[in-house]
Amino acid sequence: MDGAQVTATAPVFILLGPPGAGKGTQARMLQDAHGFVQLSTGDLLRAAVAAGTDAGKAAKAVMEAGGLVSDDIVIAILKDRLTDEDCARGVILDGFPRTTGQAEALDELLAEAGQHINAAISLEVDDAAMVARISGRFTCGNCGEGYHDVHKPTAVLGTCDKCGNTHMKRRADDNAETVAQRLTEYHKKTAPLIAYYEGKGVLQSLDAMGEIDAITATLSGMVREAAG
Ligand code: AMP
Repeated sequence: MDGAQVTATAPVFILLGPPGAGKGTQARMLQDAHGFVQLSTGDLLRAAVAAGTDAGKAAKAVMEAGGLVSDDIVIAILKDRLTDEDCARGVILDGFPRTTGQAEALDELLAEAGQHINAAISLEVDDAAMVARISGRFTCGNCGEGYHDVHKPTAVLGTCDKCGNTHMKRRADDNAETVAQRLTEYHKKTAPLIAYYEGKGVLQSLDAMGEIDAITATLSGMVREAAG
């Protein structure tokens, strides 16, 4: 990880789980509570698409179809982000790695930096509930706070609780057809990573079907322990 800011003392956490498991929501909570940096390859790719970069152009159609963007593109984007100064605080990888190739590339990057994975935490959820969960979600267009029509509505309809903004966003790939494809991809290419990290002795699992706050509290404890 030449020039990367992740240092030997910076903890590295991975959140594993299918789309809709709550990786983004929980990663943001951990960022707020512990000061680690949430690194979402989905967010980085959406920013690349919006900016019209070469990587964004290559990724756009794949993302819209619910497929996985090529390892080369995703690894390059992640590596680039890791060189930012804030990553020296420690990182929470949200949505990366998603393939064995990405996991192996991450191992190499961390080994070069004398760094290791503190924990890979698998958010365990019931697949059938994921489509409903995803189709109700939206975020604040200003601060990015996540909401859900049923599970986490805004206190005042259409107004962000955190920043008061009234422009809410729904993701283009959060429709039933694309979600089904994303779940298929997850089971085929990403679920094997649970065994991968179990084999490395860093896997922890968490029932992520309950209340968001209770899950955050449990996750926070796991992270505090593993960061030490
Ligand atoms: P997410 O925001 O994590 O749900 O990701 C949204 C979409 O971005 C996914 O459905 C993929 O098309 C793409 N994507 C995000 N992270 C990765 C990754 N690590 N590898 C491949 N594609 C990814």
